[in-house]
Amino acid sequence: MPREDKRANFLTDLGRATMRGVRKCPKCGTLNGTRGFSCKNKSCDVIFKEAGEKKKHSTEACRITAGADTQIYSVRVRDKGPDYRGFVQIPLIQSVDGSGDIFIGAEPLGDPMLLLQMGARCYVESCQRKSQQPSLCSHIRAASQCYKDATSLTLKNSALNSLPIPQSIKTDIWQLATDTPGPLVQRVSKNIMVVKCKPEALHQFGFLHFSFQQVRNKEEIEYKYYCGCRSFKIQPAARDVSFRKCVHLYACVVAFASDHNLSQV
Ligand SMILES: [Zn+2]
Ligand SMILES: [Zn+2]
Ligand SMILES: [Zn+2]
Repeated sequence: MPREDKRANFLTDLGRATMRGVRKCPKCGTLNGTRGFSCKNKSCDVIFKEAGEKKKHSTEACRITAGADTQIYSVRVRDKGPDYRGFVQIPLIQSVDGSGDIFIGAEPLGDPMLLLQMGARCYVESCQRKSQQPSLCSHIRAASQCYKDATSLTLKNSALNSLPIPQSIKTDIWQLATDTPGPLVQRVSKNIMVVKCKPEALHQFGFLHFSFQQVRNKEEIEYKYYCGCRSFKIQPAARDVSFRKCVHLYACVVAFASDHNLSQV
């Protein structure tokens, strides 16, 4: 390619680059941020499938429903096994025109460094221990490329009352559910839930991960589960994990009992 042409290409590419982070809705022509999952025009129902077709089934990262002024992602921690996850926080930044579009992380691998400057933080234990200063890690990258939302599960009062759960636990479940806005239980992947908890050093957002596994044991189906909370970890009498119980386990049981379809997995 002659030098002149190369230069011309370079310039046209630059021209296109200014439109990155924005996309026109194919149906109504509204300009959307590329981060939105669907057209922001309320009378238009287009869902941008291509946005995450590839990533939709990925369990790398999943956005959970949290407060209104921040975004929290559940991210997979690779070197710790399939069910080990942590949290990443990415601030919500409104576009300059006030349209409500979120341009942060708009481009896949856009500029995760910029995300960091804007306040994105990783709360995966190993990352927190490693550096005092916030730094860019694979978890923030995964969150910035995430196109998946967690599924909120509804807890029915009737289910809560019909199960043989100690009254004190029922009260705790009720408190967790109502003290802060948002769903008590959210599903992140087939075997992993995010459950609200009392905020503490290890779970400062008031969320933790709860994972369970179906184990076929001869004729019986057994459930193995693991909760990230303190009381699950420190119940010394129950060395066998399956005898340890915490409020988050009960919350998940109630969620499953509330939705017949859920227990079919
Ligand atoms: Zn549209
Ligand atoms: Zn990290
Ligand atoms: Zn727990």
